[in-house]
Amino acid sequence: PIEPWHIGGPVVKGFGRGSKVLGIPTANLSTDGCSNLLSERPSGVYFGWAGLSNRGIYKMEPWLLHEFEDDFYGEEIRLVIVGYIRPELNFPSLESLIAKIHEDRSIAKRALELPVYSKCKDNLCLSSLS
Ligand code: ADP
Ligand code: MG
Repeated sequence: PIEPWHIGGPVVKGFGRGSKVLGIPTANLSTDGCSNLLSERPSGVYFGWAGLSNRGIYKMEPWLLHEFEDDFYGEEIRLVIVGYIRPELNFPSLESLIAKIHEDRSIAKRALELPVYSKCKDNLCLSSLS
């Protein structure tokens, strides 16, 4: 396991609904204030826990693995990133990208059930929100 790291901030608008249409909404986080931290990390696919103001704590990868009734633009999101799945890759087709993301999702879901990762859910940084 990697040393867990934290980022947080308001959920901001991205280019639109494309990913939601594909069934893979990704909550975009403003990088103001954490760009230094991000530049120190290898790019790739990570998983961890997400705390959303007033809503609770969810698994994420980096799409929140939960069905929401509505959008949450502007809400504060806090992430505890606990594991690394793979580097960024180029995909020959959209279908292969989507298939890979679904594979990432099962890896994240299963890993987050393991005690070593599931204990990070109790992280103060997240629970102080709800
Ligand atoms: P954008 O390009 O604006 O990021 P997306 O199509 O990627 O749009 O959708 C992300 C938005 O969808 C989030 O900002 C959030 O408001 C909403 N959303 C609803 N359900 C989820 C979810 N399970 N995971 C992430 N975002 C979600
Ligand atoms: Mg997005």
